[in-house]
Amino acid sequence: KPRVMSLAQHGVRRDGVSNAALRVVSRLQEAGHAAYVVGGAVRDLLLGVTPKDFDIATSATPEEVHHLFRRSRIIGRRFRIVHVMMGPETIEVTTFRGGEIGKTSDSGRIMADNTYGSQAEDAQRRDFTVNALFYNPTDETIIDYHHGVKDLHARKLVMIGQPARRYQEDPVRMLRAVRLAAKLGFEIDEHTRKPIASHAGLLKNEPPARLFDELLKLLHSGQAYACLQKLRDEGLSRGIFPLLDAVLDEKGGEAFLKLALANTDERVRADKPVSVGFMLAALLWAQVNNRWQANIARGDKSLPALMLAMSEVESLQDNDFAIPRRFSATMREIWSLQPRFESRGGARPFRFLEQPRFRAAFDFYSLRAEVGEVPHDMVQWWSEFQDADHNTRQELIAEAA
Ligand code: ATP
Ligand code: MG
Repeated sequence: KPRVMSLAQHGVRRDGVSNAALRVVSRLQEAGHAAYVVGGAVRDLLLGVTPKDFDIATSATPEEVHHLFRRSRIIGRRFRIVHVMMGPETIEVTTFRGGEIGKTSDSGRIMADNTYGSQAEDAQRRDFTVNALFYNPTDETIIDYHHGVKDLHARKLVMIGQPARRYQEDPVRMLRAVRLAAKLGFEIDEHTRKPIASHAGLLKNEPPARLFDELLKLLHSGQAYACLQKLRDEGLSRGIFPLLDAVLDEKGGEAFLKLALANTDERVRADKPVSVGFMLAALLWAQVNNRWQANIARGDKSLPALMLAMSEVESLQDNDFAIPRRFSATMREIWSLQPRFESRGGARPFRFLEQPRFRAAFDFYSLRAEVGEVPHDMVQWWSEFQDADHNTRQELIAEAA
């Protein structure tokens, strides 16, 4: 029933697969289990993109997998998967899932989902046809149950099964459609796209932590700005979670956001680390900045005006912020350091330089200069000040006075 493609037909060589993943697959196969590289990695290999991680699907149960690998652990409750640690890599190994849908809620949402099944059933349970391909590195074949390779060449995201029902089962698939389309430069197939607008509201019931995870993936996609635009186009910008509403509804700030995300997108694509706190600071900046300027116009001093603006934005988010503390702390710090670029007198610039977040705050300040929020001269001054020796710094301070 599935199409089995040979190396000559698809061109994906086993050396595109990491050594760790190859070893996990062969150990499973030698123990008599079926094992394949699956999901995003196969899709990326076909597209000529280096996969960022390798997932493996197998007929072995989580316990059987765990027994075969000393350095492994079973994780997850709703979906039990095994993390196999192989050198520096962690490979996710998932047992083929059953076609039988577990308990569903009134809205059709999947509640429990731990039945195991065949490879064909596993393929059926995946989201898009291009994500349902299995690659066997041993004989270099690709097993394709849903015309995924054809859709991949047509650069189309096609939902497996009935799209509306699949969104009811798991509303996060709508966000995945948008994110993957933007990231891969694919079209969302019309039948897959159409039900999104009318099902968008279902996302409101998703746990905030899962939505935040999706937001993180979006921000790390290397196409964050394109993703946000597409969310807006698909009507997913409203009512999903307060954070995104805030970003997409706020007047102005578009140029800043575009610039900031272009910056981080470039870093992601160059495999450089990006700071989530920094990206969040950029996402919510228009909200904070508009209020900050309004407070200043009302007569407040710069720093208190900013602090007030920050707390206004936070209460606006109704504590539903869902931003984990480790990120929100950085975000707040980057914001609250902005007024310190305004004072260049005495010892203050020296003290500021020693601030651990100076660099992040300065990068943020530079972006603000690029959209005309603050004068370029100031960025120039601070950049000279950073690079100068002590005497030159004193001179710069004297000049600025
Ligand atoms: P990325 O490149 O962003 O990692 P991915 O497709 O690999 O994209 P993962 O979240 O790593 O995304 O998921 C791995 C695979 O698991 C997917 O390719 C897909 O087959 C399946 N999958 C993930 N999330 C869902 C979902 N919500 N519904 C159905 N299948 C899913
Ligand atoms: Mg993946």
